[in-house]
Amino acid sequence: MSGSVRNASNVPSLPVHLRCEARVNPAGLDECRPLLSWEMQSARRTQRQTAFRILVSTSPALLDKDSGDLWDSGRFSSDETLGIEYAGGALRSHQRCYWKVRLWDQDGEASNWSAIAEWSMGLLESDAWKDSSWIGFDSPRISTDAPGDQVFPAVHLRNDFAAVKPVKRAVLYATAFGWYDAHLNGRRVNETFFDPGWTDYAKRVYYRAFDVTGLLQPGKNVWGAVLADGWFCGYIGYEAKRDHYGATPRFRAQLHIEYADGSEEDVVTGPQWKAAAGPVLAADILKGESYDARLEMPGWDTATFDDRRWSPVDVGAGLSPLIQAHPGPAVLAVQELKAQAITEPKPGVYVLDFGQNFAGVPRLKVRGEPAQRITLRHAERLNPDGTIYTLNLRSATATDRYICRGGGVETWIPRFTHHGFQYLEVTGLKQKPGPNDVVGIVLSSDTPAAGEFDCDDPMLNQLCSNIRWTQRANFIEIPTDCPQRDERLGWTGDAQIYVRTASLNADVQAFFDKWLADLDDAQREDGQFPMVAPLRVAANDGGPAWADAGVICPWTIYEVYGDRRQLARHYPAMCRFIEFCRDRCSPELKPPEKYHCFGDWLSIGAETPHDVIFMAYFAYSTRLAARAAEALGKAGDAAKWNALFDRIKAAFNRDFVGPDGRIKGDTQTGCVLAIAFDLLDPVKAKLAADHLVENINARNGHLSTGFIGTKDLMLALAKSGRNDVALRLIHNDTFPSWGFSIKHGATSIWERWDGWTPEKGFQSPSMNSFSHYSFGAVYQWMVENLGGIRSGGPAYRHVIIAPTLDERLQRVRVGYRSVRGQIESSWERAANEVKLRVVIPANATATVVLPADSLESVTESGGALSKAPGVLDTRMDGNLVRVEIGSGDYRFAWKLI
Ligand code: BGC
Repeated sequence: MSGSVRNASNVPSLPVHLRCEARVNPAGLDECRPLLSWEMQSARRTQRQTAFRILVSTSPALLDKDSGDLWDSGRFSSDETLGIEYAGGALRSHQRCYWKVRLWDQDGEASNWSAIAEWSMGLLESDAWKDSSWIGFDSPRISTDAPGDQVFPAVHLRNDFAAVKPVKRAVLYATAFGWYDAHLNGRRVNETFFDPGWTDYAKRVYYRAFDVTGLLQPGKNVWGAVLADGWFCGYIGYEAKRDHYGATPRFRAQLHIEYADGSEEDVVTGPQWKAAAGPVLAADILKGESYDARLEMPGWDTATFDDRRWSPVDVGAGLSPLIQAHPGPAVLAVQELKAQAITEPKPGVYVLDFGQNFAGVPRLKVRGEPAQRITLRHAERLNPDGTIYTLNLRSATATDRYICRGGGVETWIPRFTHHGFQYLEVTGLKQKPGPNDVVGIVLSSDTPAAGEFDCDDPMLNQLCSNIRWTQRANFIEIPTDCPQRDERLGWTGDAQIYVRTASLNADVQAFFDKWLADLDDAQREDGQFPMVAPLRVAANDGGPAWADAGVICPWTIYEVYGDRRQLARHYPAMCRFIEFCRDRCSPELKPPEKYHCFGDWLSIGAETPHDVIFMAYFAYSTRLAARAAEALGKAGDAAKWNALFDRIKAAFNRDFVGPDGRIKGDTQTGCVLAIAFDLLDPVKAKLAADHLVENINARNGHLSTGFIGTKDLMLALAKSGRNDVALRLIHNDTFPSWGFSIKHGATSIWERWDGWTPEKGFQSPSMNSFSHYSFGAVYQWMVENLGGIRSGGPAYRHVIIAPTLDERLQRVRVGYRSVRGQIESSWERAANEVKLRVVIPANATATVVLPADSLESVTESGGALSKAPGVLDTRMDGNLVRVEIGSGDYRFAWKLI
């Protein structure tokens, strides 16, 4: 060993990155037995946790004294760091819980206590919301515009209350049918956007909790809200339809005050509130926001404001869903982008290029004349003359308007819309804007970055960047298809295609926990899953590969994060779906006469028969249901689903697979599905792989796959030992390929392989998004093959590191912050030597697979492999060296064969 800190046994282990219910310090939970997780940090090789002790306390001071008045788990022998269920005293509404954990390592040595983390409880009693009412203000909702173009103002709501005694703590719980910004004593309470999120509001609506202790003042206080249509009643989805869940937005909140003397009080929304319109003339997701700064009501949310001219609120809503704590991350402003170029294609028409396709809103800073009108229009691409191209937005006008107050610098960020764009057209300015006058605010759900990729091919680095940006742009409260046109729906097919890749880019555990509830809410009575979740807008029959999201997504989230409780929650819905698929087939397992199927959406002249897709996905989902049953200890179910899988597989072979291994339809996607979903015996699998490669070769080394085939194309090639072909595809820059869009300036993943071509220009504007993540699912293959990082299960407890040494590359570095900690695989070649650095988190083990010709030819940190600390076992496997290692940071090197 080179005497580095890598093996420093004197550096103690430490639990870090404490999470509660998959989030860091979440506020307002209604889960009474939250799950606690951490990572074990250790500089030492082969380190493992042998026991832990968790303390949960009502105050940090108690915790400092190592007292867990809520829970002291005691020293608990376990190597588990994920999903430890809180098992302390009953938690009550508003409860603050502080916690820390210490662990014992493999030598029985205790770590220091972790840093203190916390969570707070929300409203637990079933009648918690009974005193508050849904309130809104309907009279400004008049529009003379034609249906399809009717946008309505955001309204202001306010009320005062007295804080009669010194306040110890105050928490605001707020929800809405629509979108709200909550205010208190002159301040906006939520930094977040688009609260309370999107659900099927007829079934459930979420609230969030905000600690507002510091905002309260002695005596008179004022709280309020700005309320807009949002997903509840604004335009969303295609065909210019609005009012999917109701016709008028509503706000509901309660403010819980704990006084220093121990008494408590709840202040609530109700008929005593007052309402007025205000400066937000129009607020709509698809149409944009219009703001007349002259109509601002300075101080409207403060105690000195005179609201005598305000109107009474409208009280009541026609819906009474469950009101629950939001289980997922909020939407935040995550970054700011400055224009990289500002042009003036027509006099007074300025076009800003942010250099990146993203989702968000602009921030306008202007010194304007009173009544000066500034218009901001958003676009993903430019016309040849440099003006913005907006045809592909369909009915989403995506236009923000600002009318100046005049008399100084004015700054404005629309709060009640968002756009997918790279280019921004600004008109109405008196002079060319500078780069600080209009900036891009990037919005996304708060999903911490988890993936890193870097290599010496700029095209592949750009591809990864495009994938990440497209994920960021579409992970806004739910996984959407696209952020720009009149759609922005939680398409189930897209989500199942992409979920595994999503988890490799970011920590999406809580994000998907939330969306999986939407998916279950949207399941049809008969077990079928829908096209989109939350429901409405599109139909409730997703058809093959879309509906299967109801099985694939919960299973994938379990595989990556290891939360059995979530899996158990979704398992009954998974079973209902499998039974639905089974029951609609004939007894000999042929697909029904008629069924809806999108097919291999957007494939290139290669239509895969729908019955092939139907049966392949039915088989795959059944297989996953069996795995879920096994994971949940339901042996009987597992046997039942495995037997059904065998029957479906037999039917698939009977009906679709020729003796020569050709799959009905003879498309790449047909072969891919059969290989990826284990539907063939080894001989046929080899033949199908040969057909797949022939088909690719016949297209001069190109793919023809759409959404469905592309998801598994590269994985199927890898599984068939044909990464040579996969590497050719990933390096292509001719149509159709990932590289093609990049060659033509893509900064995001396009919906279609031919979104724009030099020969034809833009594809049909009726469906041509430049920010659709499905084809970005290739990132899973990149991580698992170029980096070679795979989970050997469960949830990366064991890791496989088996990089494919792409001859076109000199170096690749892949990092992944797994649920157990950082994993890394980075290799580089120099002359005929390969160096591979591997990092495995404490408490995990790995199998490293190296293409070296003998055990002796491999060194670790310059010494013999067999003597290296942390190396548990070595063996030859054909012409591969297999090294079993414990956790730690390793440097392997060997001569290329
Ligand atoms: C969406 C897709 C979706 C599809 C259904 C499109 O309009 O944008 O991503 O999966 O419809 O085929």
